Amino acid sequence: MAGVNPFLAGLACRCPECGRGSIFAGFLKLTAACPACGLDLRRADSGDGPVVFIVLIVGTVACFGVIVTDLTMHPPIWLTLLVWMPFAGLLSLGLMRPLKGVMVALQFHNRASEARNG
Ligand SMILES: [Zn+2]
Repeated sequence: MAGVNPFLAGLACRCPECGRGSIFAGFLKLTAACPACGLDLRRADSGDGPVVFIVLIVGTVACFGVIVTDLTMHPPIWLTLLVWMPFAGLLSLGLMRPLKGVMVALQFHNRASEARNG
């Protein structure tokens, strides 16, 4: 485990043990084991952790953007919704995998009981 930064491995969606194998089998489904080193990932469970950070990050960015554009450009409400709702949705989707990867990597790095092997 030494040498692998859990934040970098998680953001890259790589194994928290070796930093090489992908931890995802689908969009958000974890593989059973790392394809590079065989680390058992079946017990890793990030729960609602990534969602909390996504809500906080996306909510802050989107609300700040809505407020700034509304105060500076005074767009109609339909244009504000047309721009910022898809932005928030796409940013949320884009952050899901990296933040789930960070949560899983931090579980292994901190030896959380949920992710402990054996
Ligand atoms: Zn690995």
